[in-house]
Amino acid sequence: MIGLKPLKFWFVCGSQHLYGPETLAQVADGARKVAEGLAADGRLVLPIHFAGVVTTAEEITDVMVRASADAECGGVIVWMHTFSPAKMWIRGLKLLSKPLLHLHTQLNAALPWDAIDMDYMNLHQAAHGDREGGFMHTRLRLGRKVVAGHWTEAEVQGQIDCWMRAARAWNDWQGGRFVRFGDNMRNVAVTEGDKVGAELALGFSVNGYGIMDLADVMAGLSDADVKALAAEYEKLYAVEAALASGGARHDRLLYNARQELGLRAFMEKGGFKGFTDTFEDLHGLTQLPGIASQRLMASGYGFAGEGDWKTVALVRAIKVMGHGLSGAASFMEDYTYDLQPGDERVLGSHMLEICPSIAEGRPRVEIHPLGIGGKDDPVRLVFNARKGPAINVTLVDLGNRFRLISNSVTAVDHPDLPKLPVARAVWKCKPDFKTAVRAWILAGGAHHTAYSYDITTEMLDDFATMAGVELAVIDEGTELSRFKQDLRTNEVYWHLAQGFRA
Ligand code: MN
Repeated sequence: MIGLKPLKFWFVCGSQHLYGPETLAQVADGARKVAEGLAADGRLVLPIHFAGVVTTAEEITDVMVRASADAECGGVIVWMHTFSPAKMWIRGLKLLSKPLLHLHTQLNAALPWDAIDMDYMNLHQAAHGDREGGFMHTRLRLGRKVVAGHWTEAEVQGQIDCWMRAARAWNDWQGGRFVRFGDNMRNVAVTEGDKVGAELALGFSVNGYGIMDLADVMAGLSDADVKALAAEYEKLYAVEAALASGGARHDRLLYNARQELGLRAFMEKGGFKGFTDTFEDLHGLTQLPGIASQRLMASGYGFAGEGDWKTVALVRAIKVMGHGLSGAASFMEDYTYDLQPGDERVLGSHMLEICPSIAEGRPRVEIHPLGIGGKDDPVRLVFNARKGPAINVTLVDLGNRFRLISNSVTAVDHPDLPKLPVARAVWKCKPDFKTAVRAWILAGGAHHTAYSYDITTEMLDDFATMAGVELAVIDEGTELSRFKQDLRTNEVYWHLAQGFRA
């Protein structure tokens, strides 16, 4: 995937001086065993760095400052092997600027009933020390994840892995740069938003570029490179005869390959992680990028149509979160419904730009009119999406703050769609169609989403905690009247929690 930085997570064990050097050596051994054991089991997406045992306020401050300053530190995992008086942690935790995970575990799973004495009990007292630590985290109002259970359990390690994935996406957003070619689709509301507010709250920047800047890059590309990419299309996909080499419209395939190479060069030169364009601002191009946008998404770039920069960033984030899993994630739009009572299905698609990472089978390359924008016919990849559990997530700007909304869905089978000239996914919503779409609309959810077969509600929850934004979850447990009350309660909470920073 493009633009992924190396990242590791610091493991910090809390204790105190009172126990003396002999016990502290045992604490260090135990802590190292846990840190190295977690890494060795192979369930965590990213490595752990054992940052040592801390026993004084000075040591705690020092490790938190170093973790915050280390560009390769994605977050800090803390665990209190013994008691560790939490006033010692105040200054360090106030200075920590990385995501925090509190691992509530113990070195040994089994309690040695026959042999246990006071020394053993003092050495293995996370039950007591982690409560002291947790109080201080709450007292400081720290957004963090708490994971509980023996550190060798698959469930415990799975929860840490979710958090690491979220932290990786969060880290990727910090200083991340996205391109907006042109402006928003005229008069559209939900794709607008406060870019200054987003940079303050979410860490990424969005800046505008003229579409002619892209046209200039495209004009400077060599014909040989363009031909080579078109030949690659013919190898990878089922290219329709008119577009194939020797076909009557092969020049259109070459033009689309030129768009892809131009966009890639533009993104690489600027160090960008995604882009948005709009069919209303294409002066200098003969058509909207179709296959180019699709294939750039498959390389890991964020993308969304019509100037929707929030969804660009979100598509990038879910791709980073799911990296190393199936990799299937795309920009998506709720397009139309099959409203069979009790068996409703949503047809998701876009004018062109669905990522081929979600394709079932080999995509076809086709050319059709766009029907909007008055430009040439764009070339696009056409396919059905894979089946199975997936998640739709959207990010909306409520004026004073941002809200994430997710809906768990199941991509399902559907009849052939021989006349639909775009890639598509068909899904059923959880808990049921009516509850899901009523809740989505009440929450202000957009028609544009990031759609993934890899990410989970837990990853999104961790991500929202790191970002300090609301996550409204619509899944198998959603009940509408409770959901509405949560939205009302959350309005008050988030308004107060962020003060005047918005
Ligand atoms: Mn759209």
